[in-house]
Amino acid sequence: MSDLRPLGPGATVGVLGGGQLARMMALEARHLGLRVIVLDPNPRCGAAQVADGLVLGHFSDAEAACRLAAQVDVVTLDTEHVPAEVLRAVEAVAPCAPGSEALALIQDRLAQRRLLHALRLPQTRWAEVHDEASLRAGLAEVGLPAVLKTRRGGYDGKGQARIQREDHLLAAWASLGQAPCIIEAYVPFDREVSAVMARAADGSTRHWPLAENDHRRHVLHTTLTPARAEPSVGPRARALAEAVAARLDHVGVLCLELFLLSDGQLLVNEIAPRVHNSGHTSLGASVTSQFEQHLRAVCGLPLGDTTQARPAVMLNLLGDLWRDGPPPLERVFAVPHAKLHLYGKDEARPGRKVGHVLLLGDDPARLLDEAEALYRALGGK
Ligand code: AMP
Repeated sequence: MSDLRPLGPGATVGVLGGGQLARMMALEARHLGLRVIVLDPNPRCGAAQVADGLVLGHFSDAEAACRLAAQVDVVTLDTEHVPAEVLRAVEAVAPCAPGSEALALIQDRLAQRRLLHALRLPQTRWAEVHDEASLRAGLAEVGLPAVLKTRRGGYDGKGQARIQREDHLLAAWASLGQAPCIIEAYVPFDREVSAVMARAADGSTRHWPLAENDHRRHVLHTTLTPARAEPSVGPRARALAEAVAARLDHVGVLCLELFLLSDGQLLVNEIAPRVHNSGHTSLGASVTSQFEQHLRAVCGLPLGDTTQARPAVMLNLLGDLWRDGPPPLERVFAVPHAKLHLYGKDEARPGRKVGHVLLLGDDPARLLDEAEALYRALGGK
């Protein structure tokens, strides 16, 4: 990214993947006067509906990705699952943020764990698994209960198996296709939190308030910002995220997912080198949203203010709520301090993120109660 000159209004950003993150980026690009072209095989994908252009193709198609790159000033990602070799090919055509080297590292959970270890950042006990002997040795090292995770391709709990008893071990690995894995000690966390930040090419950074995340069936359900945590937790989480972003020489938004233990300890779970679901409250609650900030960073523009004036809760709307037809969305409109964001998906499949609701208020506990009441009113279980 060192060759990047500041790009202002009129410049074009290319996004590999046309999902909801690209869509919200494209919507924010509009008011900045930036143009967005997305790469996606679906001409009706959420981002294509609001973007200036579309290149038809999958993000694993290097030829299509390079065709996109030839039309834009800078390339960024909607997903970290873009193959690193595709990004390497794209880098020969246009500047990319994040770059292929950082992406290759993030895509491999083992490389992530090693990076955290090299940086001496706190994490759960883990071991590498590549055959039955290392699987057994790994379990002996981390202890029960444990979590087995594929090194590649996992998200939202996919590619993961929990191990409660030693005799579950082989079946758990078989359920993951005996893929190369890491095995981790299960963390009896008090809360899940995330540090969402942005880093510019000159190394300057900005952080949003710490996010408190509640998962249901392995998928993010609600995020509350700022998190309810002791005052020292936010700055400590920020410092961890700063260390990772600096080591990766990251440009753009980065999210560090963390476990907060009852004794106040923070353990790093995962690095996401992109705008993140737990950063969605910034869109509507902060002076600068994570989507605008990401665009500012990849365009070499100064980072914006991340101040959030009032507490906010984001409630994810999954396709499950559409199982018997559209849910009664008028229930969202009936709440004056709720904002509905739909992602324009042409199919509301179960487990798929279809939209979210942002609730703004003064009392965090009340906002979470309101989010839960709304979820139930929309047919959530
Ligand atoms: P991940 O794909 O690593 O982000 O994991 C998805 C979710 O699974 C996390 O947000 C946690 O709720 C849970 N999880 C993953 N790893 C662990 C662990 N070692 N201990 C406890 N819960 C975990």
